[in-house]
Amino acid sequence: MRATFLPFSQPSISEEEIDAVTQVLRSGWITTGAKAAAFEDSFSRYCGAGGGVALCSATAGMHLLLEALGIGLGDEVITPSMTWVSTVNMIVLRGATPVFADIDRHTLMATAEHIEPCITERTRLIVPVHFAGAAADMDPIRRLCTEKSITLAEDGAHAAGAEYKKTKIGASGTAIFSFHPIKNMTTGEGGMFCSNDPALLNTIRRLKFHGLGVDAYDRNSQGRSPQAEVLEPGFKYNLTDMAAVLGLGQLQRLDGFIARRTALAARYHELLAGVDEISPLAVPSYDMRHAWHLFIVRLDAERAGMSRNTFMAELKKRNIGTGIHFLAAHSQKYYRATMQHVQGTLPNTEWNSERICSLPLFPAMTEEDVDDVVETIKEVLKK
Ligand SMILES: *Cc1c(COP(=O)(O)O)cnc(C)c1O
Repeated sequence: MRATFLPFSQPSISEEEIDAVTQVLRSGWITTGAKAAAFEDSFSRYCGAGGGVALCSATAGMHLLLEALGIGLGDEVITPSMTWVSTVNMIVLRGATPVFADIDRHTLMATAEHIEPCITERTRLIVPVHFAGAAADMDPIRRLCTEKSITLAEDGAHAAGAEYKKTKIGASGTAIFSFHPIKNMTTGEGGMFCSNDPALLNTIRRLKFHGLGVDAYDRNSQGRSPQAEVLEPGFKYNLTDMAAVLGLGQLQRLDGFIARRTALAARYHELLAGVDEISPLAVPSYDMRHAWHLFIVRLDAERAGMSRNTFMAELKKRNIGTGIHFLAAHSQKYYRATMQHVQGTLPNTEWNSERICSLPLFPAMTEEDVDDVVETIKEVLKK
């Protein structure tokens, strides 16, 4: 058994990044300012996006998007139930109706085929998720949205650095990224709203800071008038310079992180090949670059002779951490009660929700750590 606990995820923070954050702390300007602006610029350039607005979370980005589009009572938003619940929460808090598209059974991606039957005359927005760091098959989804004149926004929370057909996620329309500590790069907490639509970016920029046309930095440092007025009621969703400077450092290392994650994932695939109780997610066969945010397997409980939850508890006893990404949104208490009509209608989502388990995957892991995880899995399964 391992002597130390291996968490399923862990951020990689360098001494240089710690120094850079310390410098911001000493600089006299710690909230949104030059670093946040530089981070917006660098991140959107990295993705090939028209522009970016740095935010305190991806959840904030989703909230602002729904606000900006005026989505509310009577409107429907299509998204998978196999997503982080924040998307669904924001839709519901706006008074709109989430409509869940089922997913591909083996990639966990919403596909055009699953989305199309969900479209009604009330559909205003479609939010596919680039699941686990792979890219969703966007061409058919984009075609569908264009045909039906429905707005498309990509949930890129797992997919900073991922590519679809040689193009980075974020370069083609609107995409929202997360920099929560488990994601492929982190700012502690944070997010980025990327878009090629300058008018939408302007609205998001205004709404993220009280609905003023400018923020405190603009007023204090850029020679703008301090008498800025509210143009419309907005929120307080800006990213601090302390966080942004960490993001700038992480962005420089993102491709290295992904390369390391890719090597570790390949080792998992190799070592798990003979373990019949466990099946990793399929890697999509279309042209894409996988960012390997998560390494997800499905446990065949019948073959294993134990439930997924027991399997996870047994691994934990042996110092291996795991996670679940995700329990289907509609299977969670509030949505079970409020969306009874959906229960049992999403076979691939429900099948996976009961079986998935994320194994440890982060750049600082060693090959031996992967070996430990697989050895421990075999021990738990008594192989
Ligand atoms: C993490 C995550 C989010 C939310 O990101 P936050 O920055 O924590 O708000 C949204 N969608 C998916 C798929 C996620 O994994």
